[in-house]
Parts: sequence; C-alpha cells; structure tokens
Amino acid sequence: MHDIIHLLPDAVANQIAAGEVVQRPASVVKELIENSIDAGSSSVKVITKDGGKTLIQVIDNGCGMSETDARMSLERHATSKISKASDLFAIRTLGFRGEALASVASVAQVVLRTRKPESDLGTELVIAGSNVESQELINCVSGTSLAVKNLFFNVPARRKFLKSNNSEFKQIIYEFQRIALSNPDVEFTLEHNEEEVYNLPRTNLKQRIVHLFGKAINQNLTNIETETSIVGISGFIGKPQFARRTPGEQFFFVNNRFMKHPYFHRAVLSAYEKILPPETIPSYFIYLEADPDTIDINIHPTKTEIKFENELAVYQILVASTREALGKFNLMPSIDFNTESAIDFPVVRRNDPVPNPEVSFNRNYNPFDEEVNNPYLQGKKEQDNLKHWENLYQRPPVHSDGSENFEIPAQQTIPVINNSNADSLVQLKNRYILTPVKSGLMLIDQRRAHERILYERYLRSFAMNYPVAQRTLFPETVEIDQADYLVLREIMEDMHAIGFDIRDFGSNTIVIAGYPDDSKFENPRELLEVFLDQFKSSGNDIKINVRERIARSLAVAGSVNYGETLSQTLMQEIVDALFACESPGFSPSGKAIVVIMGIEEIEKRFK
Ligand code: ADP
Ligand code: MG
Repeated sequence: MHDIIHLLPDAVANQIAAGEVVQRPASVVKELIENSIDAGSSSVKVITKDGGKTLIQVIDNGCGMSETDARMSLERHATSKISKASDLFAIRTLGFRGEALASVASVAQVVLRTRKPESDLGTELVIAGSNVESQELINCVSGTSLAVKNLFFNVPARRKFLKSNNSEFKQIIYEFQRIALSNPDVEFTLEHNEEEVYNLPRTNLKQRIVHLFGKAINQNLTNIETETSIVGISGFIGKPQFARRTPGEQFFFVNNRFMKHPYFHRAVLSAYEKILPPETIPSYFIYLEADPDTIDINIHPTKTEIKFENELAVYQILVASTREALGKFNLMPSIDFNTESAIDFPVVRRNDPVPNPEVSFNRNYNPFDEEVNNPYLQGKKEQDNLKHWENLYQRPPVHSDGSENFEIPAQQTIPVINNSNADSLVQLKNRYILTPVKSGLMLIDQRRAHERILYERYLRSFAMNYPVAQRTLFPETVEIDQADYLVLREIMEDMHAIGFDIRDFGSNTIVIAGYPDDSKFENPRELLEVFLDQFKSSGNDIKINVRERIARSLAVAGSVNYGETLSQTLMQEIVDALFACESPGFSPSGKAIVVIMGIEEIEKRFK
C-alpha cells in the first residue's frame, strides 16, 4: 500500500490564488461532496443539521485514505491530484488546490473516519480548529466519512454573519443539485434535521432532472445536442410555456463542472426570444465539453466562473443549437418513453405563468384586403396551410414494448394520417375519432381535441390582440346572479379581447351583442353560464394569469361534448386543426388526446 498525497511546491502554491474556500456551510458541502466524487464513490450520503451550522457529514464509498493520507489530507496544499504547475491546465478532477480540508479543519470540529477497501483497519482523526485531538485505528466501513461540526465555532464574527438556517440550507440544496446534476451515475441522499430531502438513485440525466425537479418537468424538456470542433453541447432545455418567473432551473456545466456564465445565459435567452411569456426564464440543463486547454477554470477561487478562449463562437453555437432544439417542440406531441415506470401523464403546473403563444406576423398584411382581414377566414387559411404538416415528419411512431394495448406516439414522432380518401374518419361511441395512420390506428378524444384547438386559438387571439370571429346577434339582455355579475365585471375587458361583446347595464344586468363564433352553443347565454361556472372553479390563485383561465374555461365550455355525433366535415376539421396546434398531444389540463394502437399490436390480436 503506498501513500499518494504529497505537498505542493511553493511555486505552484503561489500560482493558485489563495481564496476563501469556506464562506458558508454550503461551501463545505460542496468541497466534501466533490472530494467524494473525486475518490470514485458511487454512493454519497449528505447529512446536515440546522442549515449545516451544527453538522455537515458526508459519507461515501470511495477509495478511502491510508493512515498517513488521512493525516496529510488536512494539511494545507496537500493534494493527490496535481503535482506540477502544468497539471493545472489539464484538470479533470473537481478539487486540486489541496486546501479545502485544511481550511475546514481550521474553523470547525472535524471527525474523519476513513478506510481503504484493501485495509483491515481504518483511521479516525478528531481535529478542532487545526489541533489534532486524537488519531486512532478503528474498525469502520470502507470509504470516507467526514463530519464537520459547529462551523466557525472559533471565529464568532463569521458565525454571526451566517444567515438563517433556512437560507443556509437553501444554499446547500443549490450546491447539492449542481453536483447531483453532473453525476447522475452516482447515488445521492440529502438529509436535513433528520428528514430526507432527496434520495436520488443512480440513473440517466433525464431521470436525475426529474427526481430533482419533479415529474412535471418530464414532458417539458427536449434534448439539445451539437458537436463542433470548438465545443460539444448536450443536455436538455425546457419548453417556453414551462418557463417560470423565478430563476432556479438554469444550469451550465463545462466538462461536467457547474459554471455560471452570464454571457452564455444571454445566448440561450436570445434563442427563446419572442416565444417566452414576459418576465419568465426558461429551464435549461446544458453541458458543454471543451478542450481543457481552451478554458480557464482558475480565474475564480470558488471556480464557478469560467473563461472560454472562444466565447463568441460558443455563444453563436449555443444560440443555434437552442433554436434547433426549440424547433422540435412545435410539431410534436410531447410524450416521452424515456421514463422508468409507466407513462407519466403530464401535469400542468397550476401556478405557472401563462404561455404567450408564438405569433408570426404576416408582413404582407393589408387591412383593406377583405379576405385577409377577416379573422375567421384567416384562421381557415392557416389551417389549410398546415394540412401539409404530415410531410414534415414521416417517421413512424416508435412503439413501446409494454403490455399496454394502446400506444402513445413517442416523442419525435407525429402520426402520419393516410386519409387521402375521404370518409376515413370514423366516430366511435360518439366519443373518439378513429383514423388509420401509417403505424396503425389512431384514436382521438373528440372533446379534449376540441378543447386544445379552442384553447390555443384563444391564447393566440389574446396575444395578437385580435378577437376571434364573432357571431353577432340582436342584443340580448341577460340577468345574472350577483356573484357571476361581479366576476364578469372584473374580466370584462379580457372578454372583449376574446370576442365577446358584452355591455354592463348595472344591477346584475348585462347585454350580450356578440360572442366567439367557434363554440358549439347557439345560445350566448348558455355559453356564458357554462363559461362562468368553469372560470369560477378554475380557482382564483392570483398566480394564474386571468387570460389563461379565461382561455381554458372558454375552451372547456365551448368544446364539443362526449355523446355528440360529429359529421365527417367536423371530424376532419377537428383532426386538421388539432395537428396544427402547438401541443396536439394534450388537452389544456394535461390529459392525453391521441392514442395509437400499433399495427403490431393489432396483428398480435389476430394470431
Ligand atoms: P483537493 O481536493 O483540492 O485535493 P482537499 O483538501 O479537498 O484537496 O483534499 C485533500 C486530499 O484528501 C485529496 O487530494 C484526497 O487525496 C484526500 N481526500 C479528501 N477527501 C477524500 C475522500 N472523501 N475520499 C478519499 N480521499 C479524500
Ligand atoms: Mg477537494
């Protein structure tokens, strides 16, 4: 058994700008977990108490340390990772300064227990404020456990400046997330005050993201992938509709190390330009691979800011690949088979801000051209244009091998409809529209499909400030109850924006002179009633945008119902309009609209 730690020559030590390694509990967590990763661990357990102020303990199953190494590891500039200055420029391990443990040991009470797998006995070292209090040979599991107690116990001034337990723990979570995201093949747990906060099994990157940020994110990610001679890019980016008002899900890694890079952040944002709801930030998990010679990771003592030799080129590559990845969203039902368990139906985050749908402007727009000016015709035209969508994606759906009878089109596939001959649409149970597609039989839920179509149409007209077509009528006077009247008064302006012509006559009386023309209702009063019921039950969480609630409620109120017989023409219209939608896969409340019964499945049944 040979010892592997040596002291750095002074010259190198000086080349490394001496920075404060330990600023707060989170910095200790980061250094300790990074050491565990560097030690080749496949499992890392993090235990914290009181925001890390009372206890931070990291237990790993890595290579462990010999008795001498254990003692050396706590000396300043003791490292096993680099030995000459040039090594600094080819760093692949996370730590290299050899000062983390020494710094921690100088400001806390540290208990180190470690054993190499091939040794019979391990070592226990107790140190407080750099004084070795005891060193013993002990029986312990192989790997390393490092407990850091009462951080800054001997530097009261610094201890006083720590924030509340909660906010220190939040910082710990951030560090933990960053490391967990760069090591999905390592199992992690995080415990705070005896409660488990994360339990992350080893898995792939996508699932790691889901375990960290919740199932809802699963359907809202698409992968980004580009290989160039300057930089390799991989990872996932979030749908514009999923963008949130608060930052927290934006991650850059370079050579698997988390970095902050405001300039590259702007590159990503610029790719989302115009398709992002105002004041929201998209999620992204972007991994850059670059030749270590072309980046300088040493410009900042805590190493989160990294300088690239060719920043402009990387910026441009980032913009282009983000755009490309975003392009994939628009045409695809976003269902994903890349999950471990059964299919996850998407969860709509109720509190999330409303998407402003992407709007493309017609530069040839002429307000005096009657046909173009008529929003109804405009909508129709748009649909006709989009009838050719099927040419865009001819790839047949991928099938899962699950025992399900029905399959859902997987990500990146769009059902190809073979209905050159009309009448290929069949209605089943007045509930589903059936049509053959290349890969089998497609079933569409009529009601959910119509909801999706109307919903996107309403959002679009909100975004364009252009009401949908209006059915006008002789003004009809309607008396509604007090509660409805108050609700309606508050959203009057938005109702106008979407195609209602309603006037307030005071004392619970309104006059309806027009309403959106695409609902099933002949009677505006009926539409309004159903709409208001929906709207009221959609919750009045102020975080949900009112227009989103209106669009959703109106879509639900105005859509065809189950039990309604649909004509060929109407079915055809629904199918066409559905696949012209941005997200044809799901109803506004996140339920599946389309299911494909694969040809193989059908054949199997005839065996
Ligand atoms: P650095 O990581 O920059 O080398 P540290 O002070 O963090 O410096 O650690 C010093 C040395 O202690 C490391 O180089 C490594 O050899 C050893 N070490 C620290 N933590 C562990 C661990 N969890 N398992 C095995 N060896 C470790
Ligand atoms: Mg280290």
